[in-house]
Amino acid sequence: MSHMYNLAIIGAGPAGIATAVESYLQGIRDIVLLEKDQNHNSTIRKYYKDNKRVDKDWKGQKVELDGRIYFVDGTKETTLDFFDEILTNHSVELKTHTEVQSIKKRDGYFEVFVAGGSISAKYVVVTIGRMGKPNKPDYKIPLEIKKRVAFTLDSCVGDEKILVVGGGDSAIEYAVDLSTKNEVTICYRRESFRRANPTNQNDIANAIAHKEVEAMLGVDIDSLEDEDGRVRVIFSERESQTFDRVIYAIGGTTPSAFLANSGIHELDGKPVHNENYETNIKGLFVAGDITQESGGSIALGLNHGYAIACYIQKNN
Ligand SMILES: Cc1cc2nc3c(=O)[nH]c(=O)nc-3n(C[C@H](O)[C@H](O)[C@H](O)COP(=O)(O)OP(=O)(O)OC[C@H]3O[C@@H](n4cnc5c(N)ncnc54)[C@H](O)[C@@H]3O)c2cc1C
Repeated sequence: MSHMYNLAIIGAGPAGIATAVESYLQGIRDIVLLEKDQNHNSTIRKYYKDNKRVDKDWKGQKVELDGRIYFVDGTKETTLDFFDEILTNHSVELKTHTEVQSIKKRDGYFEVFVAGGSISAKYVVVTIGRMGKPNKPDYKIPLEIKKRVAFTLDSCVGDEKILVVGGGDSAIEYAVDLSTKNEVTICYRRESFRRANPTNQNDIANAIAHKEVEAMLGVDIDSLEDEDGRVRVIFSERESQTFDRVIYAIGGTTPSAFLANSGIHELDGKPVHNENYETNIKGLFVAGDITQESGGSIALGLNHGYAIACYIQKNN
């Protein structure tokens, strides 16, 4: 049999890194962190705009940190550096380009399946987040305009007429940031931005007051159409408009297929787990955004990692 790790963690986002580092600090050794992307924290790298302000109390949720990882407000760049540093300082083995397909419980250990083989471990923690599959609208996006409809800011070039769809913190941050170089409208199905944190509520109110962003509140979208390569947006009960680009910032989805293939039960869009984040399968845990229907945060993920590390240390 291949090497038996004590602990295999799937997904190197904040929750995965915290589980690894807190476990190391509790004296647990032989930990492997498996990440499908080329580096840790692919959600932060892909979805956060450059220089984004990173709030510890994201979405206005105050979180007291339980563990030994001292995380504070910063930017996208300082946050990534911070995670780089704690990974290096705690000798955690990070295997990148390693996408886990499923997990099977064997006799007293787990087999974690990756392309072309498997890894064995005594305990497994799944921290794969929800942004592997961002939420998509339920209407069809015509093929001709697919390149003009996105879920990150990667494709934005400046001097465009852009529609941002959503009304949470991410949508507001995208809209305000894009408005420095583009003509931006934000479309949200609710009547106000009350779910966003106070700073973002303030930023969007200012941007609207100064006509840097146009707001369409209480508005739904019925469909998208191709108009000579641009995106015609058909709003319900409003005249349609044409944009160069549409950016959706409407959260992520539960990786249900992954959970089902690994035998982890799901209820109401979340994996079932107890107060120690242990699933219906003993020794197999979940942490971070995957445990939240919406509204996860870096600090919450760090606390989940600490709780799991304490539990494993006590029961090892
Ligand atoms: C635009 C935006 C702005 C945000 N701003 C803030 C903020 O300011 N403050 C804050 O606290 N929170 C913020 N959040 C939320 C925060 O990013 C998440 O709560 C946090 O990243 C969740 O951590 P996680 O470890 O659970 O999952 P993730 O960060 O999503 O990490 C999951 C990791 O697992 C990897 N993975 C997925 N599937 C597999 C697989 N099968 N095999 C191996 N690896 C896999 C992914 O590549 C990824 O690296 C923001 C979110 C978004 C989208």
